This record gives sequence, C-alpha cells and structure tokens, in this order.
Amino acid sequence: MSEVRVRFAPSPTGFLHIGGARTALFNWLYARHHGGKFFLRIEDTDQARSTDEAVEAILDGMRWLGLDWDQWEGGAGDVLRQGERFDLYKSKVAELLEKGLAYPCYCTADELKERRQLAMKEKRVPRYDGRCRKLSGLTPDLPFAIRFKAQAEGKIVVNDLVKGEVVFDRSTMDDLIIARSDGTPTYNLVVVVDDVAMAISHVIRGDDHLNNTPRQIQLYEAFGYPVPKFAHVPMILGADKARLSKRHGATAVQQYREEGYLPEAMINYLVRLGWSYQDQEIFSLQELIEKFSVEDVGSSAAIFNPEKLNWINAHYIKTGTPEFLTPPLLPHLAKLGIQKEGIDLEKLNQVILALRERSRSIVEMAESTACYFQDEIPYDEKTKKFLKVENLPILETVRNTLAETPFEHDPLKEAFQGICEKLEKKLAKIAQPIRAAVTGKTVSPGIFDVLEILGKEKSLKRIDQQIALLKSV
Ligand code: GLU
Repeated sequence: MSEVRVRFAPSPTGFLHIGGARTALFNWLYARHHGGKFFLRIEDTDQARSTDEAVEAILDGMRWLGLDWDQWEGGAGDVLRQGERFDLYKSKVAELLEKGLAYPCYCTADELKERRQLAMKEKRVPRYDGRCRKLSGLTPDLPFAIRFKAQAEGKIVVNDLVKGEVVFDRSTMDDLIIARSDGTPTYNLVVVVDDVAMAISHVIRGDDHLNNTPRQIQLYEAFGYPVPKFAHVPMILGADKARLSKRHGATAVQQYREEGYLPEAMINYLVRLGWSYQDQEIFSLQELIEKFSVEDVGSSAAIFNPEKLNWINAHYIKTGTPEFLTPPLLPHLAKLGIQKEGIDLEKLNQVILALRERSRSIVEMAESTACYFQDEIPYDEKTKKFLKVENLPILETVRNTLAETPFEHDPLKEAFQGICEKLEKKLAKIAQPIRAAVTGKTVSPGIFDVLEILGKEKSLKRIDQQIALLKSV
C-alpha cells in the first residue's frame, strides 16, 4: 500500500463530540498502524458558526486523548484551517467555470423554495431543474451562486471499506452549489480541494457524509484528481436507538475529563464503539495500534453504553499504578483546594493504593483523597449517625488507646482488638465512628490503613475535635 494519509476534519461550531473523537481515533489508529500520517483540518468556512473557542476545545480534547497529529507539509502551522484558504477555493471554482463544468445560477432562495415545495406537492424528488445552465454569459448586476454541472448518465460506485459497495445513480444527482452568492465556497468543494491538497489516501468519517461522497467523487472527476478510498463509520446511538445527544448524558469529551474519566479509558471505550477484536475488551494503546483495522469496523450503528464506560474507567483506575494515576488526580485535588506543592507524594501513593480498588472515577478518588491532606475536613451529613453522644465512650476509649499505639497496621489492629474486648463490641461498631471522625465520611478503606496513612497527629486531633463537639451539646 502506498503511504496512508488520513485526516480528522471537524467543523469548529462547538466542543469535541464523542462521535467526532471516535472518528478522530479511528483515523489516528489507522495512520499509526500503517506508519502513515494523521492530519487535523479545521473546517471553518462557515465563518458565522465557527469560533476560536471551539477550535481550542477541539485541540484540547485531542491532546487530552493523546491523539497527536502530524504537521502537514503544505502548511505553515500544524493545523490546516480552511478559513485561511479562500483564495485557493475561489481559483478552483474559476477553474471549473473555465472548463465549462460549472455555471452561474441566478435563481433566488425564494424561487428555489417555491419550486421545491411544488415538487413535493407533485410527489417528485426535489431537484434543481438546471434552468440557469442554458444562460450564456454573466448578468453582472444580479447576485449569483455557482453550480457544478452534474453528469446525468451512469452510476457512481463507492467501494466503501466499511459499508461495502454502495451504488449511486447519477441521474439522481443535483447540480451542486459550489460557491454561494456571497462568493464563499461550499463544503463539498473545499473538502475535495483539501483532501487532494493533503494527498489524503483514505477518507474515514461518519456515515452521515455517505451521501456527500458521490457528489465529491464527481468533483474529483471534474478536476481530474485520483479518488481516495472511503470508509464511512456508523453513527453512535443512545440506548433508545436515537442519535447520541445531550439527553443520553455528556456528549462533550471534555465533560468526561471533568467527571473523572481517564483518557486511556475513553480511548478504550471509544474504539469498541463499532470495532472489535475477538471478545477482548481491554486494550493497551500499543495493542490497538497493532490490531486496529478500519475494515473490521462493523457496518451497523454502535450503542453508547455509559455503564460499560464506567466499568472500563474503574478497570483502569483499579489497575493503575500511583505514577499513572497521580497526574490525572492532581487537577481534581486542586479543585478541592489541595495544591500539588502541599502534597507529600509518598503519602499520596499510599492513599492511591488504598483507594484505587474502590474508586469508579478520578473525581471520586479525589474526594476520598482530600481528607488525608486537608487541615480541616468537611463532614458528610451521613456521619451524624455515628458521631453522636452515645458513641462518646467509643471515641474516648479509642482516643486514649491510640495515643499509646504506634500508627502501623499490626499494632493498630491489636489495639482495636483490645478495645473490642473491653467495650464488648464488634469491630464495625468501633470503627465506624472513628472512620466518620477522621475522614468526615462513612465509607473509606480499612480503618487501620486510614489511620496509618493519616498519622497519629491528625487522627487524634480529629477525634478530639469530635469529642469536644459532642461534649458541648
Ligand atoms: N467537517 C465535517 C464534519 O464535521 C467533516 C467532513 C469530512 O470528514 O469530510 O462533519
């Protein structure tokens, strides 16, 4: 195979959507698998809807996921922005006009609308009737769009790498507008011009673009350009089989970062939306690069399943080393007011090892980590059930015993056994008020681990504070 060159071409009108991220991932993996190139192209020709914030959000999302892109040889920056290439597009429109393959169309939006409505009423497929094809020369005073002269005979066959053979009858194809009356070029034209300029070998994109493909192929033919290969990947649907939208949960990639998902888990989850390899669920990035092929993407829609994403995220947390989990954890701790500079990393490692089995997200992990680093901790409402006057003898006995106990697992265990015998209570009854007092929560890792990590000074101080509070009521 000659060099694989693919691109992700988002329109910057919002955030990086889950579906877009998956398209980007499939392109990235295909390029990395074949040792090819992966480019990023910002499709911002619709300047009214495109914003710089949206471009930033897309780049940020891509970086977070680790989808690095290659520098296109033909551009100055590392990202191609279509909004900067209008002169080129105009020259390409002029080229088609000169070749007699395009023509000015003076029909107004209202006229076109009227004709469309009439066609629908008469149960005809609404199509442009080609009336301006017959005009000769320009009428300079009137605004005009430029249309491509579609060829009416024959078929266009797309051998799609995902969908298989898809045949389009040329007779059904409209004379496409390639430049609007304000002179701006349209999507189908600029995509072809740029896919050619970037020497794209494989166009991998959502199947909502499948119908654009024959239109684009006509333009390749008109310019005399070689046609790339196409792979149209199916949409992602919600459990109700409707196209994935906000109502199914977060659709912006960044929101998942906010909610404590790991990028590795997102990648692993996204790739499985439509692609599979035997019945394997968990893949390292290296394995994905080795195993991914776009030909193995299924042709039917993928269903977004948030529980599975949670499961995969929990898997990556559970099996993650402290070195792996610390970087994503730090920004969430910072949000809770715990800055990196004030963290004893040795202690953080211990906390992570104690918490990773029980954390489903990095946000959850950060919330459970906070109490080990804060001076003053907030108390959950639920701790009231355990921090009550009846439990004062437990708190006091534990406090006094712990003052004499080395804060290591085994001596702590022994000390608690002694207290259980003395107070004739089960360990859970003793541990729960202590857990509430020292963590501010009703769930935590095992109490000996908690105390050992927290250390004597902080533990005793918190128990003392609770004793004083209960005595003051
Ligand atoms: N800009 C198009 C979109 O965001 C993608 C076009 C393409 O991949 O050809 O849907």
